[in-house]
Amino acid sequence: MTKINYTNVAIYKHEDQNFVANQHMVVDTETGKIVEVGNGSSTNQVVDEVSDMHGRYVMPGIMNAHTHIASIPTYWWNDGKEQRHSDSREFNTMFAVRNMADAIDHGITYIRNVGAAFDIDIEIKEMQQKGWIRGPKVMTSGKAFSITGGHGSGGGYEVDGVDEVRKGVRQAMKNGVDNIKMMVTGGVLKNGETPDDIQFTPEEARTAVEEAHHKGKTAAAHAQGNAGVKEAVEAGFDTIEHAFDIDDETIAMMKEHGTYVVPTMNAMYAIYKYGKDTVPDWAREKVIVNIKKHFASITKAVQAGIPIATGTDAGTPYNGFGNESAYEMELYVEKAGMTPAQAIDSATINCARAMHIDDQYGQIIPGNFADFISMEENPIDDISVIQRDKDVYQNGTRVHAQTVAEAVKQSRVTGKVNAVI
Ligand SMILES: [Zn+2]
Repeated sequence: MTKINYTNVAIYKHEDQNFVANQHMVVDTETGKIVEVGNGSSTNQVVDEVSDMHGRYVMPGIMNAHTHIASIPTYWWNDGKEQRHSDSREFNTMFAVRNMADAIDHGITYIRNVGAAFDIDIEIKEMQQKGWIRGPKVMTSGKAFSITGGHGSGGGYEVDGVDEVRKGVRQAMKNGVDNIKMMVTGGVLKNGETPDDIQFTPEEARTAVEEAHHKGKTAAAHAQGNAGVKEAVEAGFDTIEHAFDIDDETIAMMKEHGTYVVPTMNAMYAIYKYGKDTVPDWAREKVIVNIKKHFASITKAVQAGIPIATGTDAGTPYNGFGNESAYEMELYVEKAGMTPAQAIDSATINCARAMHIDDQYGQIIPGNFADFISMEENPIDDISVIQRDKDVYQNGTRVHAQTVAEAVKQSRVTGKVNAVI
């Protein structure tokens, strides 16, 4: 057993909405948990090591509640080749291993994966737990649920009717998923549908949630247009992904149900910004039509006090597993009216709550896992500092050491800027 006392550290505290300086934190690297947090540097614990943090700013590791671990951002255009090797199980697995390493090196310590072909996230989670691959901890959804020919039907389960939904969800849970992902509406990255299309019926949506909740699992709905969001909230989904458009009635329903919104603003913005020459026109057109509405909808949710859990849709065009998660937090401040502290909460305590793991994650408090990041500058003064290279700790041990800060600042997938809003 190794106990380390990290001293002289400024720790982010949710209740203060700020970092509190001159703290110490004792971690036990055997259990991976925080044992003690307090003022000053002294502890009654017997520790094996003392590590002076020189006043650095420490917050819980970034959580991302919406990723596609087996996809890479260049998957979508494939250089015009007809046969996509990238669709194979082998490519998907290799992408996932690469994305996992990228994520942990950029301070992402927990992901909720919401759709992976071949159920690859289930095996990736197991490999991470066994220490065979580096990466964040993983909450899995396996293959997402779509109607026949609907959004995400490529690598997902196609189910139609209440009985097929029930059977499919039960099968997914038998396969070992932690969460159910259902494509309730159409979306951007499939031709021939729109974000406003409703795909699953209210009965089908309710059935998926009912089966997931019976087993103590959570359920996430891809829902974009207002009518589809409303249907998903009413069905009882724990999180609404994207939410391009919501009205006051939807907000009232979200409050009543305790629904979380996962915005994925960078998924839209990256295509808008960089996608002109690479992303198919039919997809980029949908982004152009919806992006302002989407950002306004998230702003409205923030103002109404709807809890927001950070999610990026990592794996979509120009939207990877590097600093995109921290950039998403910057978008919440710059384009959705959050304070920097609210943006930090969205990627920590709110994600943990949305994922039902807030008894062990999302705050730097005794009893929680010691997954955290350490930075030279204060993100409350400037949210974008989280995008700079930083030290990353998992289960109390440093797993990524900060290199020259400026060299890797804003390491994200980018291209030629075509448009900004
Ligand atoms: Zn997605």
